[in-house]
Amino acid sequence: MAALWLKLRAVPGWLWPLAAGAVLLVVPLLGMSYAITRQIELTLILALIVVGLNLSLGYAGELAMGQVAMYAAGAYTAGMVSKAGVTELWVQLLAGAAVALVVGLISGIPGLRLGSWSLAMTSFFLIILLPDVLSIFKAQTGGRNGLAGIQPPTMFGEPISGDTYYVILVVITILIFAMVRNLIVSRHGSALRVLKQSPVLASSMGISVFRAKLTAYAIGALPAGLAGVLFANLDLFISPEAFAFSFAMTILAASIFGGSASIYGAIVGAAVLQFGMNQSTNFQQFGLIIAGAFLLLGGVAFTGGLSGLMRALVRRADAAAHVKVGTVRPQPVPAEIGKLDGALLRTDQVSKAFGGNQALSEVSVEAKPGAVTAIIGPNGSGKTTLLNMISGFYRADSGTISIDSEAVQGLPAYKVARAGVSRTFQTPNVPEKLTVLEAVEAGRYAGTRASILASILRLPSFWRTHRVDRAEAERALALVGLTDQRDQMADSLPLGNRRLLEVARSLVAAPKVLLLDEVASGLDEDELDVLESLILRLRDAGMTVILVEHNFQLVLRMADEIYVLAQGAVMAHGTPAEIERNTRVMEEYLGVTADHNAHTGGGDE
Ligand code: ADP
Ligand code: MG
Repeated sequence: MAALWLKLRAVPGWLWPLAAGAVLLVVPLLGMSYAITRQIELTLILALIVVGLNLSLGYAGELAMGQVAMYAAGAYTAGMVSKAGVTELWVQLLAGAAVALVVGLISGIPGLRLGSWSLAMTSFFLIILLPDVLSIFKAQTGGRNGLAGIQPPTMFGEPISGDTYYVILVVITILIFAMVRNLIVSRHGSALRVLKQSPVLASSMGISVFRAKLTAYAIGALPAGLAGVLFANLDLFISPEAFAFSFAMTILAASIFGGSASIYGAIVGAAVLQFGMNQSTNFQQFGLIIAGAFLLLGGVAFTGGLSGLMRALVRRADAAAHVKVGTVRPQPVPAEIGKLDGALLRTDQVSKAFGGNQALSEVSVEAKPGAVTAIIGPNGSGKTTLLNMISGFYRADSGTISIDSEAVQGLPAYKVARAGVSRTFQTPNVPEKLTVLEAVEAGRYAGTRASILASILRLPSFWRTHRVDRAEAERALALVGLTDQRDQMADSLPLGNRRLLEVARSLVAAPKVLLLDEVASGLDEDELDVLESLILRLRDAGMTVILVEHNFQLVLRMADEIYVLAQGAVMAHGTPAEIERNTRVMEEYLGVTADHNAHTGGGDE
């Protein structure tokens, strides 16, 4: 049993869906009834819509309901173009996808600009509105009576037979799923997963939250538009009923039941819904209830849908058979650090109040390249707030922040990240559904570029970037000593490893300024050794390091310069020796961290 499982697991993952696609291609040769073929065709059409939704809902974390409208846009475009005399299917597919994309952008921009639940609301409104819009343009769309008289499609001028149409549909579905898969396993897919987990983390990595969500939503429009064209040419008749609210629910149910955060789950979910609905004699009456039932089942009985269930089973079988996933051991990477370009980071008289709480008042701090600048102070003294100001999460009430004398205050966080600021978080921010290696690799997003098109089509520029990204991620993992954990899921790591993972993720971005927020807390002694020597090596290589730290002894060992914050103001600043001589600081500071000193100090005086 275990041996068989090991063999199965050695097969590259993408071969399975490809094989399933090949089976679908030859299935009609087995002499299936027309009714079944049609069900498969409708399933594939539904699957195309669902996989587009999964990009938004499962990966970008936006409940977007507009897929029906994009689907309708594709279908009506095809119908109207056909009635105008253009029966060529490829032309219709291009036109349908383009119009769907426009609908996606128009409905996505306002919804995503406003943030939070707005996209769900605007897209919901869009589908409610759809029948009315179709009625307004009755002359073109046929209104509630539907659009009849669509001409049979042609390809290169030849009529397309029913069998050929089936093959075309399967091939298009395979191609689209391959492309979506390529997108999801690329850096853009990782970026979406990071974003779903934490917009704050995403922007600290140079990802524009708005752009990424809009891209996911708009790209999801393309398969929906294609599906619309394919649907219109299947029946040669379309009416608003096909795009009603209950169909929107069917799409949502198929997505959730199959597993929103999956690609192939879209096909399984679509098949279950399509064949399930077909069993019900009165679809119009019970459609919504059936969709609702599947929604509940998928959402409640097994989170993550069928694909989540599958993954859990695979993991269990892996554990039973002792499969080491990703058994290709990495080459030992020489964890050398070449010369780094740090930058001079300066805050000048920066103030910030939260309501009546003056978190920072006129804080001026300077961090030089090739030096560790420590920021210490009691809890609530404003250390994290200062890092958040530098990162661009908050806007300063007054004062300036500059990197190599370029002003960065007021820039959105993702632009500050792109200007060379990388950071870790006081509470480690580790994305779900990414391996340790992928999570670190995602940190490369701001630095290098690989277009979405290049990623989807696997163009040479994608591979070039991918190779460099992977090598850099491996190197960073080696630097923090996490090479052995590279294939584990990132969110399964214990606290100390999470902190080191964050450091590695910050490093791969090749930052000029590294902000570390309480990075040593929760580390065991070995981890602390690794971290300490790493920070010193980074400093010696020329990086600008800002260290917010509780452990006073660690700060004394590592810092070149120390700023002491108290109640949002700099109360002292100097070298470790100067700070140690400053009795006022020592008293205040030791008052807060007496426990630290209790077991680390006391030997020398
Ligand atoms: P430290 O990191 O030094 O422990 P913080 O920077 O987290 O301190 O907090 C400084 C002060 O600012 C605290 O009084 C905290 O309650 C307040 N503060 C920080 N962030 C926010 C926020 N987003 N909204 C309101 N108050 C905040
Ligand atoms: Mg803090």
